[in-house]
Amino acid sequence: MNLTLHLTDNCNMNCSYCIREKHPCDMSEETLIKACDLAFSKGKRAGLCFFGGEPLLKKDLIYKALEYCRAKSVETGMRFDCKMTTNGTLLDAGFLAVAREHGMVIGLSFDGLAQDVARRYVTGGRTFELLERKAKLLLEYLPDSIAMATICPDAVPYYSDSVKYFYELGFKKVSMTPAYGHKVSWSEEKLEELRAELEKTAKFLGEIYLKGAEFDIGPLDVKIRQMIRGYNPDSKCHLGARQMPVTPKGDLYPCTSFIGDKEYYLGNVYDGIDEDNLVRISSKSNTPEECLSCDLNKRCTNSCGCANRMNTGDENRVSPLQCAYERMVIEVSDKLGDYIYNKDPELFTSKYS
Ligand code: SF4
Ligand code: SF4
Repeated sequence: MNLTLHLTDNCNMNCSYCIREKHPCDMSEETLIKACDLAFSKGKRAGLCFFGGEPLLKKDLIYKALEYCRAKSVETGMRFDCKMTTNGTLLDAGFLAVAREHGMVIGLSFDGLAQDVARRYVTGGRTFELLERKAKLLLEYLPDSIAMATICPDAVPYYSDSVKYFYELGFKKVSMTPAYGHKVSWSEEKLEELRAELEKTAKFLGEIYLKGAEFDIGPLDVKIRQMIRGYNPDSKCHLGARQMPVTPKGDLYPCTSFIGDKEYYLGNVYDGIDEDNLVRISSKSNTPEECLSCDLNKRCTNSCGCANRMNTGDENRVSPLQCAYERMVIEVSDKLGDYIYNKDPELFTSKYS
């Protein structure tokens, strides 16, 4: 099974949109090993995602888990996959060599040219220049790493230039996600500005794709792929049934925004999963009422229980912001898809089907 290990609640950064409560609370070695055992307790493969706070504050725990899971994989014959989401400030060559040896997939939280708008050290210091160096180092070791940018309203003017920047830096995969939660506030004007930036980005993508660039960006390419491949019910949110967070104390919840809510408590790594509660909670995730008759329903991320809860307080209610954003992304991605198809149908088919 897949677990997201919150190795620590602590972080050396203080991003303006961060919704995580920072506590000096780290996972113990005992809890870590119990979590690894749980990951190997069912299914044919075990997956761990190292997460935080900032997971690289606890490099020792990551090394321990990798070593333990490698032995466990040999013992059980089960496959082991690992990934990590990091703010990148503490990446170094030694760690990256180990990560490469274990086939770790790394998502680098990096806002590109907007990095200093929201992603600062706890002390307020800038991080852009450091992150640029760390991104280059990361790509040297793991060229398939993903740049993950979070777009807050003040970062919108940098959107399309940041996509170009990531491409020029050498990233092949990029994800651009709007910042949600109580710390950000989106206005109509900002959403319109975002649309203009998405259109500029689509124009740039059209140009580089036609020249054969190996580059993929969520959400635009993802939406085109969804249109071509049709609805995949597996992509629907299943609240904890696929990937379960483990808190530093070893408690289990359906997803990060539910941590601490007793109603959604799913057990702990010592006593195991409360299967009855897992079934009850997974079945609570439904397509929002207001989306049932919408034509875009099957291409929209309306069913992400975690985002819905963060935005509306209800896992089955989508926010007007998310609805407006989804509509705009689908519209822009369709125009990009049409453009590429009309210019080079063969390229379109090989890229998206
Ligand atoms: S790096 Fe991640 S955990 Fe740390 S403050 Fe920023 S968003 Fe929050
Ligand atoms: S576009 Fe809006 S109404 Fe349509 S499925 Fe998405 S969130 Fe629901």
